[in-house]
Amino acid sequence: MSVARPGKIIGIGRNYRDHAAELGNTVPAKPLLFLKPASAVIADGATIVLPPESRQVEFEGEIGVVIGRPIRRATEEQASGAIAGITCVNDVTARDLQRSEEQWTRAKGFDTFCPMGPRLVPVDPRRLATLEVFCRVNGKERQHGHARDMVFTILTLVSFASHVMTLEPGDLIATGTPAGVGPLADGDVVEVEIPGVGILRNPVVAEAR
Ligand code: ZN
Repeated sequence: MSVARPGKIIGIGRNYRDHAAELGNTVPAKPLLFLKPASAVIADGATIVLPPESRQVEFEGEIGVVIGRPIRRATEEQASGAIAGITCVNDVTARDLQRSEEQWTRAKGFDTFCPMGPRLVPVDPRRLATLEVFCRVNGKERQHGHARDMVFTILTLVSFASHVMTLEPGDLIATGTPAGVGPLADGDVVEVEIPGVGILRNPVVAEAR
């Protein structure tokens, strides 16, 4: 199944203890939600553009959850029936802007900052905790996370978010990144792989000032 552009993208901050620690943060008591604009989405193979406003754009390999039918104030059981499938996401982040601003809209929202794909794969809800995610830059492994190490499970995240806003078909939840984040540079190629789902591969180019 190909991946349609989502109506909204919900990001999750600090959902792996080792990643929270590497940025000097503690883990939140409740899921920490933020939004990325749909205009940031690019497909597998499309180019990530490093904007001149940032000197530190970083990759964040993540497990992406795509919603299949509308849910509001869903239990975890209801949430499990509303997931269309799993896809790879790169939650590209301007780390310097994120550190200097309390709201993350600018740091997370530049055009091309949400590669997703290459396809949407249905996953048995009972197997969600067995998912793994890898991120490689220029073929070198930089991240390897296990869904079982998430602070909040995928079903908890979907249920929690649905208590804030109605989740609609196509909406994407980027479930947080494991440790190992690092900078991207002009000429890099970054890959996010979820075994059994696929490999999302995107080249990186710096935008001229
Ligand atoms: Zn992220």
